[in-house]
Amino acid sequence: MSVDSDACLALRTALDREGGQAIPIDYPLIVPSAMLNDPSQRGLLVAMLGRLPIDHVWLRVVGLGADAGPLQMSRYLSAVAGLHNLGKPVIADHLGGLPGQAALAFGVVSGIAQGIGERERFDTGDWHKPAKPRTDDAKFGRAARVSIPGLNRTLTRAELDVLASAKNGRRICGCADRACCKHGYDSMVADPRGHAARQFFSSIARLEAVPDLRRETFFLGHDGPMAKADRTAREIKALRPDAAEAARHNVDPEALMKRLADHSRTTEKIRTTLETIHETRGNDVPRARVAALRSGGVPKSATGKP
Ligand SMILES: [Zn+2]
Repeated sequence: MSVDSDACLALRTALDREGGQAIPIDYPLIVPSAMLNDPSQRGLLVAMLGRLPIDHVWLRVVGLGADAGPLQMSRYLSAVAGLHNLGKPVIADHLGGLPGQAALAFGVVSGIAQGIGERERFDTGDWHKPAKPRTDDAKFGRAARVSIPGLNRTLTRAELDVLASAKNGRRICGCADRACCKHGYDSMVADPRGHAARQFFSSIARLEAVPDLRRETFFLGHDGPMAKADRTAREIKALRPDAAEAARHNVDPEALMKRLADHSRTTEKIRTTLETIHETRGNDVPRARVAALRSGGVPKSATGKP
């Protein structure tokens, strides 16, 4: 970290020398959850970052992602709030799904960044391992995964087809947003990335339309993302997929349904945990600083306007 910090200072000096005084510096902070969650270690981080000439902190927490459980999420929410003393906007980088939306709704981060259907979690676990050798005929990319609207989880195409074979399966798993997927289930599986991108942007737009101090209530409320994820998870776990269809796709239906039942339990626990946090801390909690939009290379924050 001292190397990083020296490099950051040297970058500022070099930019200023070359006439780049208006160029802001984003500092990507990669940190293990244990370090972020520990108040004394977090204090050291804040002290270090506080000395740096940076404009935004991009926070990547090792092992945290769209699949975070209730405990991990509640720790994250309170730990990131501990970075607010810095007075700099904090962007949750590589954080997708419900945890990303919760961090935004609870005002602990100024923004979130993720890929479309990927980079929704951050891991350094394999950084020290050499890359897997590739054979020439291996296909590029990962197996296509499809996100079910509101469920906060992705499934492979085969798993989804198995679920769709159940009674009501296509309706429950398919995209009901006709502006997003014109022909519901079929459009969704034909263009999973387009579907994921549109759903992500509309979820952010819905949150943005709610005033800051009402966002937690909206997020947890009856029509909010949390309740919807909980409801969808319950509906999906109750599906009874067709055994022949499962065999045809080489999917073990019992293992699949067990995973989905576990997912539903976790989602319910996340909901109760976030409700408790909301009830105990109330509405008037300090929120993360607004991340300024840059126009013409000059950060608006430099003019004093957020
Ligand atoms: Zn869709």
